[in-house]
Amino acid sequence: MTGLADYTTLGLGGPAKNFAAAATETDLIDAVRAADAGGEPVLLLGGGSNLVIADDGFPGTVVHVRTRGVSYADAGGQVDVTVAAGEDWDDVVAAVTAEGLAGVECLSGIPGRTGATPIQNVGAYGQEVAEVITTVRVFDRLASQILIFPNERCRFSYRSSLFKAETPGRYIVLAVTFRLNRDSRSMPVKYAELAAELDVEMGERAGVSEVRSGVLKIRARKGMLLNPGDPDSRSAGSFFTNPVLSAAQFARVEAAAAGPVPRFGAGDGRVKVPAAWLIEHAGYGKGYGSPARARISAKHTLALVNAGDATTADLLALARDIRDGVRAAFGVTLEPEPTLVGVTL
Ligand SMILES: Cc1cc2nc3c(=O)[nH]c(=O)nc-3n(C[C@H](O)[C@H](O)[C@H](O)COP(=O)(O)OP(=O)(O)OC[C@H]3O[C@@H](n4cnc5c(N)ncnc54)[C@H](O)[C@@H]3O)c2cc1C
Repeated sequence: MTGLADYTTLGLGGPAKNFAAAATETDLIDAVRAADAGGEPVLLLGGGSNLVIADDGFPGTVVHVRTRGVSYADAGGQVDVTVAAGEDWDDVVAAVTAEGLAGVECLSGIPGRTGATPIQNVGAYGQEVAEVITTVRVFDRLASQILIFPNERCRFSYRSSLFKAETPGRYIVLAVTFRLNRDSRSMPVKYAELAAELDVEMGERAGVSEVRSGVLKIRARKGMLLNPGDPDSRSAGSFFTNPVLSAAQFARVEAAAAGPVPRFGAGDGRVKVPAAWLIEHAGYGKGYGSPARARISAKHTLALVNAGDATTADLLALARDIRDGVRAAFGVTLEPEPTLVGVTL
């Protein structure tokens, strides 16, 4: 049996009943079809950087997506880059940035494979893949056919999409097409910390390569860049999403807080509040938890880390402790960002 801890960035997860590595699209579809025909549960696995898998493992077929291939096509003044699901995401960002193509430079250093990027509409430093994806090619397990979803049918929203929200697991992402600008200057910088790092004003542009290196520097400081030498990077990235609150909910948070509460407009009178701020102000600081098992990263309040000897049960106990503490302090229930497999919060 294949131990899934070797395939997740948390280094957690028990064995898979069956494990199939799919190097071609045909292998990928065949593996999923065979499991479906046998009534086996299926788990698609990319880089394992957004997965929290039970200590008991997975009682079905894990399909590891290893398909390869990147192609470029002219799209007027822009370029369409079509990428197979199994391509490492940061290798793609590095390659297109080196070509002087703009649109994904702020998404540098995000671990995992390209096929997972539309699932939770990967985003960072003011950019999201939803802004540049034109189509997502999928295998629909229910209809047993290949479909092409144009961007507007993917229902992208903050850290979500149709693929995550509606019948999770129904659609297997085979390839993603991104439309990038032939412009070696970045998209306008929308994130204050990045603007400061690059020494530009908010809304100004910088070179795409400069933005990439700025983002990688910030990520390394926060333990948000995978690095075997950095124990704080043994995580699934941000464990909780930033809650989107109604005006009434936000008023309750403000009333409970001792000082001003940071917020960003989220449309329709709603606001997004940084989960990291809520966690810190509920009394859970960096490093909180067990020094050898599960703890909050020493560099970033939103990342929960396997400090070496943790189990998935330890990590979830820590997550529940934090969620309950934030709820008691502010009346806000934080939601997990990673996909939980065989466990609940
Ligand atoms: C240090 C660190 C930093 C991170 N920073 C960010 C960040 O800044 N922004 C951000 O958005 N995320 C971030 N993440 C989370 C994670 O990297 C992304 O969500 C990434 O896209 C997951 O890719 P993956 O290949 O590892 O997916 P996995 O973890 O393998 O899978 C994630 C989910 O997608 C499904 N899936 C995977 N591939 C496919 C496919 N081909 N078809 C259908 N379903 C599929 C899986 O079944 C699972 O439900 C970070 C994670 C870490 C560890």
